[in-house]
Amino acid sequence: MSVRTGIGWDSHRLVQGRPLIIGGVQIPFDRGLDGHSDADVLTHAIIDALLGAAGLGDIGQHFPDTDVAYQDADSMELLRVAVGKLAGEGYEVVNVDAVVMMEEPKLAPHSDQIRLVLSRALGVTVGDVGVKASTGEGMGFVGRGEGVAVTAVASIVKVATT
Ligand code: MG
Repeated sequence: MSVRTGIGWDSHRLVQGRPLIIGGVQIPFDRGLDGHSDADVLTHAIIDALLGAAGLGDIGQHFPDTDVAYQDADSMELLRVAVGKLAGEGYEVVNVDAVVMMEEPKLAPHSDQIRLVLSRALGVTVGDVGVKASTGEGMGFVGRGEGVAVTAVASIVKVATT
């Protein structure tokens, strides 16, 4: 059984007048993430990690932000499509781990719900999804509260020959 690993990173700017959606969960805050889709920075990083693990390129190739089809897109749906693409290549998700870098609001009260929502889309158990939060300690764009960044890793395994 050969396990493959991928890494993903994404960042989005925090702006007024947008919902803050992280890992498919809307978090109460006075600002939200700007982007072509719903700008779900965590889900985007996970998609990139999954695609990278499978050698299937990146999120921009599969869901280009120049395509009107993905305007205000639900990133959880894109995640389900990505998992389906991996399944088409014979891969199943083993586990995902991510660090959400965000000055505020606090992510911890929402992390269990985020893990549950992500686990369903990924076809794994909650215990196979890690979502951790870290601040920028006042440094850089994260520390100044200008945006949110996420890094994620994903492990997948081939369960079927294609
Ligand atoms: Mg993105």
